[in-house]
Amino acid sequence: MNDAPLKVTRSGEQPLIRGQADYFTGTVEIDTPFRADSPGRVSGGHISFKPGARTVWHSHPLGQTLVVTRGAGFVQRWGGPVQAIGPGDVVWIPADEKHWHGATATEGMSHVAITEHQDGKTSDWLEPVSEAQYSGADS
Ligand code: MN
Repeated sequence: MNDAPLKVTRSGEQPLIRGQADYFTGTVEIDTPFRADSPGRVSGGHISFKPGARTVWHSHPLGQTLVVTRGAGFVQRWGGPVQAIGPGDVVWIPADEKHWHGATATEGMSHVAITEHQDGKTSDWLEPVSEAQYSGADS
């Protein structure tokens, strides 16, 4: 039991965050980011990718859950096929698995991302997804 009160963050209170170019290709907006107070360590947000936008290759030290809320997208693990994902689909990415996720070339995609942090870190960011990889020609 601790004395910290529960916290309600009202819809629309938080500014939309633009995804940084080091971590994303194309236009990406992060809405309603959240991060638990210690000892909780879950964090995440509702992330929207414009058509053609995607993360760079990356991994998560404790894995990640994605819940697709809108549109049409792709997810791919290193060495695996590009897989289509759509609204209601849930994706589990195991710890330390190199992967990317994003929109299709013609339709945007939004997902909730839920990620635990380890030593303050949720992700290790790597190189961009090439056009050949994105199009599935190089998978
Ligand atoms: Mn991820």
